[in-house]
Amino acid sequence: FVNGQGRGSGAESAGAVGPNPCDQEDYCCICMDKIQRKKTLDKCQHSFCRECIDSAFQVKSCCPVCMTLYGNLTGTQPRNGQMTVTRQPFGLPGYEGHGTIIINYSFSDGIQEPEHPSPGVGYRGTFREAYLPDSEEGNKVLRLLQRAFQQRLVFTVGTSATTGRSNTVIWNDIHHKTSSHGGPQCFGYPDPGYLLRVQEELRMKGITEEGVSD
Ligand code: NAD
Ligand code: ZN
Repeated sequence: FVNGQGRGSGAESAGAVGPNPCDQEDYCCICMDKIQRKKTLDKCQHSFCRECIDSAFQVKSCCPVCMTLYGNLTGTQPRNGQMTVTRQPFGLPGYEGHGTIIINYSFSDGIQEPEHPSPGVGYRGTFREAYLPDSEEGNKVLRLLQRAFQQRLVFTVGTSATTGRSNTVIWNDIHHKTSSHGGPQCFGYPDPGYLLRVQEELRMKGITEEGVSD
């Protein structure tokens, strides 16, 4: 555990000779220049240029000074999955003024990894299609689902409650609308509360639109 007191305590560079430039106010230790468009990380309070820390976080979401981890819970979704997005002009019930976002998920068959219920045993892949309104809020949910997919949170391997089949790719507590019509009973629209509920489910897994605070 390093430097819980934030910057300027002088404790984080044990063994370094002379003052650590990263401790200086308004100095970005990524580009080693004066901070431009300052962004301060919310847990550890270290500051960088916005561009510098954003591109560093693309590689790994941790503070380059103190290594504090930022979010990015990784799930157990098989690694061989694909998520593709297309758009159609037709509207969904309740969102007639908008087009429709169609998400296709596809997983081929594979062998379970150590994080799965039966490592070394084969699992059956799956193909799923899900729908979102092509509205501002629907596109926000899409971005969150794309992050969740990258973090391997949307599916897992286990026993399907619906089909009873074991060793198969199944949903993992982030609900999708797999039907355009029929309402909630059919996993379809209309369902006015759905977009908010799924954002709450995403939030439970650490997926929110706030990455780091300003
Ligand atoms: P599951 O049955 O263990 O259920 C996991 C979650 O998904 C539950 O919260 C459940 O309410 C929800 N869910 C159940 N049916 C759904 C549906 N049709 N659309 C959206 N959400 C649904 O998980 P699972 O086996 O991944 O999902 C079951 C559904 O997926 C079934 O309708 C099944 O026919 C369909 N499906 C399964 C496979 C497969 O290979 N397991 C392939 C294609 C479609
Ligand atoms: Zn830090």
